[in-house]
Amino acid sequence: MIGFTGAPGTGKSTLVDALITLLRKLDRSVAVIATDPNSPFTGGAILGDRIRMQRHALDPKVFIRSMGARLGAFGFDPVILETVGVGQSELEVAAVAETTVVVLTPNLGDGVQMIKAGILEIADIFVVNKADLEGHHRAVTELRSMLSLSNVPGAPRHWKPPIITTSATQQEGIDQLWEAILAHRRHLESSGRADELARKRLEDETVEVAAEIARGRVRQALAEDPALADRLLEEATPFATAEEILDRTR
Ligand code: GDP
Repeated sequence: MIGFTGAPGTGKSTLVDALITLLRKLDRSVAVIATDPNSPFTGGAILGDRIRMQRHALDPKVFIRSMGARLGAFGFDPVILETVGVGQSELEVAAVAETTVVVLTPNLGDGVQMIKAGILEIADIFVVNKADLEGHHRAVTELRSMLSLSNVPGAPRHWKPPIITTSATQQEGIDQLWEAILAHRRHLESSGRADELARKRLEDETVEVAAEIARGRVRQALAEDPALADRLLEEATPFATAEEILDRTR
């Protein structure tokens, strides 16, 4: 999964659109998940949606990919996750995406905001979009010095986030962006990081599923046995009651 993040108006939608154009030319299929700024977006929410979709899991016409599913370095059909850069969402994108693309424009006001928000650390690839506008050389130079000054620990196993300049509206620089995405993927594979990420995601997903199952059991037990809830009002604690229900509904 490739996550695109950055301040509103930096050109993420246009860029994703341009990337889709390229991928279709290369005859690859692609899925896009655009996040709704009005809905709380967390890895958990995405997982939650997937869990709700599990009833379709046995339908051969419905393909639900596990977040943790491992993808080959080549010939993979990417899933693109796009989000508006508001508050926490950037960090959440980084938590679910294997490759995080941070989109900036020559107006590095965005850049200063990013440093504040800790966004430099999450980028696997930087895009300076709107390269047709004045100031993009300066923006790239400034970004480069910001990166060398900041002590970015987020370069796991020697991945140095490249800076790609694009002009999404002119379909320029998109090939280079795609090459950088592929290079990052190869890096993930060869460094063993892809396995680590897949493992971590499958673990997280297992925890989410377990929580969902437990929640269902406890709700059902409370609904079927009002005495349990009555006892809560008297002496039993929610903790003890939850444990009791989970023990008995194994
Ligand atoms: P998002 O909010 O990050 O998704 O940004 P959009 O993709 O909606 O783009 C915001 C505005 O920037 C739109 O008017 C786009 O046409 C414009 N835009 C996007 N990419 C470029 C570019 O490469 N050059 C220029 N000059 N404008 C662009």
